[in-house]
Amino acid sequence: RAPDPAIEEIKEKMATVKHKILVLSGKGGVGKSTFSAHLAHGLASDVSAEVALLDVDICGPSIPRIMGLEGEQVHQSGSGWSPVYVEDNLAVMSIGFLLSSPDDAVIWRGPKKNGMIKQFLRDVDWGELDYLIVDTPPGTSDEHLSIVQYLSSAQIDGAVIITTPQEVSLQDVRKEIRFCQKVKLPIIGVVENMSGFICPKCKNTSQIFPPTTGGAQKMCADLNLPLLGSIPLDPRIGRSCDEGRSFLQHVPDSPAASAYEQIIQSI
Ligand code: ADP
Repeated sequence: RAPDPAIEEIKEKMATVKHKILVLSGKGGVGKSTFSAHLAHGLASDVSAEVALLDVDICGPSIPRIMGLEGEQVHQSGSGWSPVYVEDNLAVMSIGFLLSSPDDAVIWRGPKKNGMIKQFLRDVDWGELDYLIVDTPPGTSDEHLSIVQYLSSAQIDGAVIITTPQEVSLQDVRKEIRFCQKVKLPIIGVVENMSGFICPKCKNTSQIFPPTTGGAQKMCADLNLPLLGSIPLDPRIGRSCDEGRSFLQHVPDSPAASAYEQIIQSI
């Protein structure tokens, strides 16, 4: 079969993007989108960096809400689709901007989803970027294969994989890691999210999801992968996300924000 001409077009589009980072998780609900959003916020806190966040979690786009952009719409510009700007240097594109209501369901078959991913990678008018963060659906689906295939000539820096300490999440992460190895997608590292809850009163840490098999630390040691950091559970993260505000700006002096900052610096 002849290669899809879009691969070449995407390569051209990505030539003006310095770093491309995919955010993956084995399971849903582990904090992947929250991490993608805060990685974008954190990188954009350097005002000289041009940052973009692309949400290709087609069936569950939560980025518009987390970024405080619900109800925003995408506009056609002369040279493609204009993203929505949160800050002057932070642009966002999501399938959520194309739905008439946040409660609308996207019920699409594979080819239509792949077509949308292709358009997102080829037709969004980002301009020059230092970082493009791609929030992907959970698991290893057709969408992941499409993204990797479409970006195959565009030099992806790699993937950050999000997990909780729980064995059910780690099990799926191991599959995700094997997927990355198969498709030759470099792994930047693993982030353990929701790892412990620090009581605001007594400051003791409780393990809400006990890592019965050693958690992400052991898995990373076994597989020779970097553990980029561990983010504790903090109910204020959920609240900030629901309100569409950056937790890093909202509650900067917290263990969770420090963990985020440290991870962002290591990327
Ligand atoms: P995913 O993208 O993996 O499906 P989300 O990023 O949507 O997961 O997060 C799932 C829920 O968990 C959201 O309500 C989010 O606000 C919350 N959340 C994520 N990380 C944390 C954390 N460290 N502490 C508390 N709540 C969190």
